[in-house]
This record gives sequence, structure tokens and C-alpha cells, in this order.
Amino acid sequence: MKNIVWFRNDLRVFDNPALSAACESRNEVAAVFIVSESQWKDHCDSVNKIAFWFRCLVELEKELKKLNIPLVVLKSDLYEDIPQKLLEFANMHCFENIFFNIEYPFNERMRDDEVTKVFENQNKGVFSFHDQVIHKPGTLKTKAGGDFSVYSPFKRCWFAELDYSMLEEIPVPSPVRKIDFSHANEFDIYNYQESRINQDLWPVGEENIQTMISNFLEKKGSLYKTDRNFPSMKATAMSSPYLNTGVVSSKWCLNQSRYNNYDSLDEGDKGIVHWVSEILWREFYRHIIFNYPRVSKGKPFQMRYENIPWENNPSFISAWKEGRTGIPIVDAGIRQMIETGWMHNRLRMIVAMFLSKNLLVDWKIGEEFFMEHLIDGDIASNNGGWQWSASTGTDAAPYFRIMNPETQSLRFDEQGEYIRKYVKELEQCPTNEIHMPKNPQDFGYVDPIVDLKTSRQKAIDVFGSIKKET
Ligand SMILES: Cc1cc2nc3c(=O)[nH]c(=O)nc-3n(C[C@H](O)[C@H](O)[C@H](O)COP(=O)(O)OP(=O)(O)OC[C@H]3O[C@@H](n4cnc5c(N)ncnc54)[C@H](O)[C@@H]3O)c2cc1C
Repeated sequence: MKNIVWFRNDLRVFDNPALSAACESRNEVAAVFIVSESQWKDHCDSVNKIAFWFRCLVELEKELKKLNIPLVVLKSDLYEDIPQKLLEFANMHCFENIFFNIEYPFNERMRDDEVTKVFENQNKGVFSFHDQVIHKPGTLKTKAGGDFSVYSPFKRCWFAELDYSMLEEIPVPSPVRKIDFSHANEFDIYNYQESRINQDLWPVGEENIQTMISNFLEKKGSLYKTDRNFPSMKATAMSSPYLNTGVVSSKWCLNQSRYNNYDSLDEGDKGIVHWVSEILWREFYRHIIFNYPRVSKGKPFQMRYENIPWENNPSFISAWKEGRTGIPIVDAGIRQMIETGWMHNRLRMIVAMFLSKNLLVDWKIGEEFFMEHLIDGDIASNNGGWQWSASTGTDAAPYFRIMNPETQSLRFDEQGEYIRKYVKELEQCPTNEIHMPKNPQDFGYVDPIVDLKTSRQKAIDVFGSIKKET
């Protein structure tokens, strides 16, 4: 048999069900990755993330070579042309089957349905697998038979339905029969120079990353629950870019947690158990995007919030995007993302709530801006996080519970270390003023663009009036 493995967000050889199945019986196998610039644009994928993907892909190519599997990079300018592109490639080289791991956002599902159709029409085999989640979306149901829309009951059901055999990892396949094959790459992944961040901040290589995450769990896992909210502490795994490109699987992460916690995922070491629950948030948002496709289409999860009268003040939007709102913790968060491609979770919540509540700017503008910068930009988690912050999503923070950035700053960055790192103007600002300087101009910093108290009340009034109307 001659098989194609189509790599997407699963850039690894260990615990990769599509790769493993394609390699069974020592078939002849070629790997394909498709570059589609229109898809990048549609999804606002950041150049930081694209450069990072390519670096991961170069590492994957080396691993695949050891298995006698060549990697071919194809290019399809239009997303809609991908099915035809793949079919032409398969026909040109007499491939009989295609294997891939499933993606859950709406456009990706439509694309994969079309690939299935065109391949099956020509009597070619299509084999798809779930590698991003433990429970397949659609299989966990509420007592009433519906889909979950709240995290805690989802998590309870996730554990109730868990059989440890579901956590069995798939080994790296044995080398396959060498394929007599040549096809020129259509895109140069080796010299992509567009990144705006220093890519050295993000090492690559499957084994390196496994070591990095295992070290985190071993050395910092137990402290995760207490330290995870303090952005200057480096107390989280920084694993999101690797989970989202699929350099490691979430199953592997769960097994590492078991390994460091006497084989348990839900009791024992409080830090590790909490880390597991974050991995399950990721899975939850994948179920949400699958079960409620409207969230992939710019709609709020809670439809009653479809017509919030956002003000979308252009000068507020640019001040927020440039990290010069005059609220130090907010500006530090945005500047961290612009500088490194990543932002601490506590900060993501603070800046998102500030934008959607205090500034009354549509959360979709923030969602897009995050995708344009994040190295870990992920449709499901980003949408989930933004809708949570804007109170329009699942489990959403109630609209009247608005984080006060100054209080958050005092609580989670008491000494101002994080602020000083990213808001250079405030490097010399005394600690008792750093959270909201009295005379910001003295430091070359800017005045706050809004008053926190009045803007908070305004947001409560706007959101409250909508609730009453519906
Ligand atoms: C407004 C907003 C936007 C976000 N956008 C993204 C995004 O584009 N991509 C992304 O991967 N995460 C996103 N998150 C979730 C979270 O902020 C990041 O996953 C986390 O900061 C990654 O850091 P870490 O790997 O050190 O996490 P850790 O704290 O070490 O957690 C381990 C893993 O669990 C998962 N995880 C942790 N917290 C969450 C969460 N709240 N929701 C979903 N999964 C979680 C991540 O995969 C993470 O790598 C967003 C959150 C908010 C509030």
C-alpha cells in the first residue's frame, strides 16, 4: 500500500495515531504538509506562529527521515483548493490512502469533509483519528443527553467516562519500506524570516520539549496551584505552543502528570491535579468548538449577547494594541505578547476584560489581535478565553464581576517586577506607585485612557440592560 500522512497540528512521531496507522504493515509512506497563505490570513495567524511551525516541521522532517518517510511541503493559495491539490498529488504518485488527525474548527471540518469526498470518489481510502482529545467530541453528554456548556460538570463526566486504556500511548512506528519518490517542495520552510520575535525563546524538537515539560512537572508541578497566577515567577509549563502544534500530545502530558503523581490524575498532589485540570480546559474548548460551531463563526456562545452596543473607540483600540493605556499591568501584558509571542494566563484575562468591559470594545477585535501575535494562537482556546472574559461564553465570568486591573496588579505583581520588565518607562517607579503612578508623565509614561471606576460602571449598565431586554 502507498499511503499519505497529512500533517497539520500534530507535528510529532510519538503518540501520533494517523502516522502509526499509515505505517502499519511497513507500507510505503510519504508525509505531506500544506501551506495555505489564505488560511493564515483568514485565521489571522501570526508570523511568529508560522515561523515557529516551520521550525517544528524541520525537526519533524529529521524524525520522519529515520522512518524512511519523506516530507513534502505543498502550497495551495486558496484554502478551498486543498482537496483538489491533495488529490492531484495522490494521483500523480499513485497513493491509495490518506491518513490524518482531526481538527475541530468549522472551516477545517468542511475542508476535511471535502477531502474525504474527493478521495472516496476515486476509491481511495480516508482514515481519520482523534489525537487532540481523550474523549471524542460528541461522546460526553449531560444527564439530559445534551452537550456540556459548563466546565465543571464536563470535567466530572470526563473522569467518570475515563478508562485508563484510553491513555495508552502509541509508540514511534518502525521504519517503513523506502519509497521510490521525489517531489519538489513548493514552499521554502527553511528560510522563513518573517517572525517579529526572537525565535530562540522557543526551543524546538520533540525530545527536547518532552524533557522540558517533564522537568517542569517534576520540579515545579507541586507548586503550580499556588504559583501559577504570578506572572514574574515562571511557574507555568509554557507548553501551549507545543500542544497546539502537536509537538507533544495532551495524552502524553496527562501520562507525565500520572507519572509524577502516583498514577493519579484527579487526586494526590494538588499542583499536578490542577495542571491536569488546565489540560482539560483545553479539551473542553475543543468539545465546545465542535458541538457549537457558531463560536468558530464570530458568534457569541450566549446568543443574547449578539448585539452588545460596543463603542469600538479607535483611539482606545490603538492604545490597547500598543500597550499604552496608562494602566501599567495591562500595558505590561500586551508588551509581553508583542515582545515574546506569549502572554501569561492571568494577564490574558486582565487585558481581555479591560478591553471588552472598561473600553467597551468588541471582544472579536481582541481575539483577532491575539491571533496576530501569539505563538500559541489557537482558535478554540483563544475564542474560549475571550468569550469567558467578555462574559459572552461558556462558564463566563458574570458581566458584573469585572476584574479591577489595579487590584489584580497589587495582588499578583505586588513588587511590580513584571511591570518593570515590560514597561521600561516605569523601571525607576517606586513600588508603592507602580500599579497606578500618580504623575505618570514624570516617568515618560502615559495617563490612563479611562477612569477604572466609571468605565466599570458603564460596562455593568450596558451589559445589564441587555440582560433585562432578553
Ligand atoms: C483571553 C484568552 C486568550 C487565550 N488564548 C489562548 C490561545 O490562543 N492558545 C492557547 O493555547 N491558550 C490560550 N489561552 C489559555 C491560556 O492562557 C494559555 O493556554 C496558557 O497561558 C498557556 O501557558 P502555559 O502553557 O504555561 O500553561 P499552563 O498553565 O502550564 O497549562 C498547561 C496547558 O493547559 C492548557 N491551558 C491552560 N490554561 C488554559 C485555559 N484557560 N484554556 C485552555 N487551555 C488552557 C494549555 O494548553 C497549557 O499549555 C487564552 C486565555 C485567555 C484568557
